[in-house]
Amino acid sequence: MTDLSTVPTAAPSLDDLAAATPAQPNADAKRRVAGGVVAASAEILDLSHRIHADPEPAFEEQRASAAVADTLRLHGFDVQHPVGSLATAVRATRRGGRGGDAPRIGILAEYDALPGLGHGCGHNTMAASGVGAAIGLASIADELPGEIVFLGTPAEERGSGKQIMIDDGLFERVDAALLYHPCDRNHVQSFPLASEDVEVVFHGLQAHASSDPWRGTNALDAMVLLFSSVGLWRQQLRPDARVHGIIQEGGTAANIIPDRTKAWFMLRSADQAYYAEMAARFRALVDAAAIATGTTGEVTFSGGAKTMKPNATLERRWIENAAAYGVVDQGPDPNSGSTDMGNVSWVCPTIHPDLAIAPEGTPGHSILFRDAAATPVADRTTLLAAILVAETATDLFADPELVAAAWRDFRAAG
Ligand SMILES: [Zn+2]
Repeated sequence: MTDLSTVPTAAPSLDDLAAATPAQPNADAKRRVAGGVVAASAEILDLSHRIHADPEPAFEEQRASAAVADTLRLHGFDVQHPVGSLATAVRATRRGGRGGDAPRIGILAEYDALPGLGHGCGHNTMAASGVGAAIGLASIADELPGEIVFLGTPAEERGSGKQIMIDDGLFERVDAALLYHPCDRNHVQSFPLASEDVEVVFHGLQAHASSDPWRGTNALDAMVLLFSSVGLWRQQLRPDARVHGIIQEGGTAANIIPDRTKAWFMLRSADQAYYAEMAARFRALVDAAAIATGTTGEVTFSGGAKTMKPNATLERRWIENAAAYGVVDQGPDPNSGSTDMGNVSWVCPTIHPDLAIAPEGTPGHSILFRDAAATPVADRTTLLAAILVAETATDLFADPELVAAAWRDFRAAG
């Protein structure tokens, strides 16, 4: 079991959550929202544990998405599952009793696991906290304007499910997107890298490697040249950029000139504009390798994760709401991976705050982190995250000027 004392500002116990005084403004509404989460805590944690025990990889989250959809249906949400073009996407809405179309506040939840590892990214806690936040908000739905929009978003670990949901129109007229992520630290700001999977295939011509090699064109030579070019290119790349890859097909026999080779690369950068330059250069390196070897090269970009546009207005609300529960923000995360929440941040005001479920230094995407995601510490964090997401949404529902300020930040961020 995780040692509580080593987890940065571990979340309060259930009793302490119930007794805490939420931050102003809207403290009274927030107390009722937190009460809604506390009242449903057994159901919320059961959902987290069930998803943890039954991991499903990207695009295959049938049981997790069904459990999420069923729980929200029980709590009075209008549920679409599946929705859009993804079989495991969920959209659950509840209109506020005060009517009107605005604002629409989005509460997001991921539930995919890592192949061969399980919930090594702790998405079970995100799924449960997102559902918990929606349940908490539902307890004051009668007094809200606009609409609560819960979005269950598949495939964060591979394939950028959120981009597909954006393309499906599921983020239209959403004024804010809120999503907590489990971590070994507490911080609201992170700087995820733009990231994309790139498949490269070279096509050549087979020939006997000894009797008449001059009749062939060597697809492996093209691949070797591409890796050499990438290696040299790295010297000129900015420090925040990454290119890394593996050869998946390198030919079939040493005495056959390879007519087909295949590689899987990833490109990443902390700067969206620089990323576009990198993608163009990578394509040129493939073309150059093909020209040099008389082969043809194909490049397929997966359509990947984007960088994250920060939103100071939402971040401030989160930090103040969290401080009321004793959570101290530890400052921006210096080590970022990539997330398709970045894509959402280019569509509407977005935050992706992290809360600790494990001792500091626990590596993500590991057995240690997977096991931490089902401990009593993770449970406390899951409930706290549900409350903080719901309280931040409460602030947005209560104050049109706050929503306008979040949109101003969004536009100012480029
Ligand atoms: Zn994750």
